Amino acid sequence: MPTRLYPAAPSRLATYADCPRRYRMGYLDQPTPPRGGAWAHHTVGAAVHVALARWWELPLPRRTPAAGGELVVTGWSSEGFRDERQSREHRDRARGYVERYLATVDPAVLPLGVERTVSVRTERASLWGRADRIDDRPGEGVVVVDYKTGRSVLTVDDARESLALAVYAAGAARTLRREVTRVELHHLPTGTVVGWDHTPASIDEHLSGADAQAAAMATLDAAFRAGMTPDEADAAFPPLVAPRCGWCEFRSTCGPGRSVPAHRPWDGLA
Ligand code: SF4
Repeated sequence: MPTRLYPAAPSRLATYADCPRRYRMGYLDQPTPPRGGAWAHHTVGAAVHVALARWWELPLPRRTPAAGGELVVTGWSSEGFRDERQSREHRDRARGYVERYLATVDPAVLPLGVERTVSVRTERASLWGRADRIDDRPGEGVVVVDYKTGRSVLTVDDARESLALAVYAAGAARTLRREVTRVELHHLPTGTVVGWDHTPASIDEHLSGADAQAAAMATLDAAFRAGMTPDEADAAFPPLVAPRCGWCEFRSTCGPGRSVPAHRPWDGLA
């Protein structure tokens, strides 16, 4: 029998790498332990991503920067914000930077894909993800674009080291039957773009690392599902206590993680 491929989005692999205990709680424990409430910065990211995707569905004459800003407003939610005033302040801010960003985008040139799911197989895994945008640019070829709305300043290393971008590039190459080496992070709040030109070898490096990790996780998942005592499960999926615990949605049910102070739901706002 052929070995079943381990299906994984890069976020699943990253969750395990960050903290095996968090991975177990989020992907394996049944029932899933209660998650914390919404984070305001996630609310912002979701509204901006949806607006930038729906913008391409508008008829060309209506595909203006102002219409993109309006999509941010209509899709807005106040989840995670301190109060309505803070929510409106960040809604208007997001509207502004989405409009500024879209003023740099040619609405007549349709991308090859918007929120397009792509996948690529390795020896032991089926890696998949959803690319925010896939462009076909004259002189540059196919370019994978990932939108960012966080407060971190992005560097070229972020684009180079991103497993998600490498998976999108490999998946887009497979789906489109085109060479895809260019990946970019577009930081909406600052209008900054950082990119990286992969080589087949650098993409392979990402994929083979993901393949090895997926194989290890497949073994662990199978052992967990076959049955572990609570002590065995805790040993197999140890908590990695770090400052990130303050952001963890399972912090309230994770004993070791509670030693790190919790962030407020709006602390991640840019
Ligand atoms: S609180 Fe920290 S240690 Fe606990 S699951 Fe979350 S990230 Fe892991």
